[in-house]
Amino acid sequence: MTSVLTTYDPATEQAIEVFPVHDAASVAEVVDRARVAARWWEDIGAEERRARLLAWKGVVVRRLDELAQLVHRENGKPLADAQLEILACVDHMDWAARNAARVLRRRHVRRSLLMINQAATLEYLPLGVIGVIGPWNFPVFTPMGSIVYALAAGNAVVFKPSELTPAVGSWLVRTFGEVVPEQPVLQLVTGDGSTGTALCRSGVDKIAFTGSTATAKTVMATCAETLTPVLLECGGKDALIVDADADLDAAADQAAWGAFANAGQACIGIERAYVHQSVYDAFVERLLARVTALRPGSDPQAAYGPLTLARQASVVREHVADALGRGGRLRIGSLEGVRDRLAGPIVIEDAPEDCLAVTDETFGPTLTITRVRDAEEAVDRANASRYGLGGAVFSRTRGVELARRMRSGMTAVNSVWSFAFVPGLPFGGVGDSGFGRVHGEDGLREFTRPKAITRQLFSVPVPLTTFDRKPEHLALVLKATTLLHGRRPRRRG
Ligand code: NDP
Repeated sequence: MTSVLTTYDPATEQAIEVFPVHDAASVAEVVDRARVAARWWEDIGAEERRARLLAWKGVVVRRLDELAQLVHRENGKPLADAQLEILACVDHMDWAARNAARVLRRRHVRRSLLMINQAATLEYLPLGVIGVIGPWNFPVFTPMGSIVYALAAGNAVVFKPSELTPAVGSWLVRTFGEVVPEQPVLQLVTGDGSTGTALCRSGVDKIAFTGSTATAKTVMATCAETLTPVLLECGGKDALIVDADADLDAAADQAAWGAFANAGQACIGIERAYVHQSVYDAFVERLLARVTALRPGSDPQAAYGPLTLARQASVVREHVADALGRGGRLRIGSLEGVRDRLAGPIVIEDAPEDCLAVTDETFGPTLTITRVRDAEEAVDRANASRYGLGGAVFSRTRGVELARRMRSGMTAVNSVWSFAFVPGLPFGGVGDSGFGRVHGEDGLREFTRPKAITRQLFSVPVPLTTFDRKPEHLALVLKATTLLHGRRPRRRG
């Protein structure tokens, strides 16, 4: 652990705090301590874990302003957005703490004819130690979507925050230590990608990774060396569909929020809008009126903050230039407007479907808008992406129908992002957006091993799984099975 990393305020570029870079040896020590803590955490039982997690929630709520200030400083987002992010996280803390025992508890499972003498139970037991690798864009909400659910399921956690937001990660780990002082159940390792690699190789029982698709592939390859299971929450290219009967004011308002909040640095950011031809002009007029008023900055009136990662500006410029060079038209913003971290909003019309601004994750304040013949074409175009994380549909009558047809893990009807804030709903994607789920019941089970137990209740008079088996016993069971399962299905109606 010889080198250090310094974290900076992206608005002022002033240093905030210095952290060690954990190398493989120090990560291994942390994981060893976590093994002991994991046994203690499992043994204290679901009720005590619930109490501790609810106590942690209380600390986060009471010191919300302090944490929000830190998020504002280290990530750059407006203070109010930081507060909103923490509020959403608090709901998840509450839900995971209160529901873990119910979701994971031991339950009886129906037996079959062959195993009529066996009582069968299923329960979900903790995996042990979970390594959580987080991004910087929602430095509280996103990693906590793994951390809280893993802890509630009875695991110890080793958390490696992004090198851009270690101070926020450190705050979370410190405050957990205030309510669980006995054992290091939640620990922090800091550093760059090499520390993440060390965590993948450390022998943890699962890696929960949130970050870009490119890094996810490296993480998965590294984890393959030790057959460590992975949960991958990756990027997206979410689409918003506006149908002919949509509330256009609401659609424009939410398109603006979904595309530009957090400077577009959201995995579920809306990056493409497909709009029914009959309402296209009216929608665009409303959208532009809203977006014109948006200004980046770090003052309290700014709509969104600076780009947290300075080099992201060149990705945004590359995508916009590619779209403009191939027939796209700027309706708002300019290439010059993304020269530095304070990138103004950009709306592009008629970007071809195979340009970077439509195919790749831009992760900046941009939105492409495209006129479509009907909702069917909108769904087809939305689904043509190799990503499949979230999305949104605006329609008064066909919202849920169209939402179900979108190839993604989540879709909001007549709003954006709302699925992320309903703690009971699973969050995750398909394709290049990754696999596995955080949040909700699936998110709890993600950090467990299903444990199946059969207990013999009595000896059957016709035992089959023994070398003493009698042919007449097998014949009897074959007959019973034919009666039970061999009938031809009758057609209904
Ligand atoms: P990165 O992929 O760059 O990094 C994610 C994390 O992985 C960081 O902690 C990073 O460390 C670490 N890391 C980097 N290299 C390795 C490696 N070789 N082995 C192990 N860990 C490594 O993503 P960003 O932090 O830039 O986050 C933005 C991305 O995250 C976007 O694509 C966004 O869409 C996605 N995201 C997805 C979400 C979802 O739930 N689906 C939610 C939020 C964001 P370091 O920072 O120190 O390099």
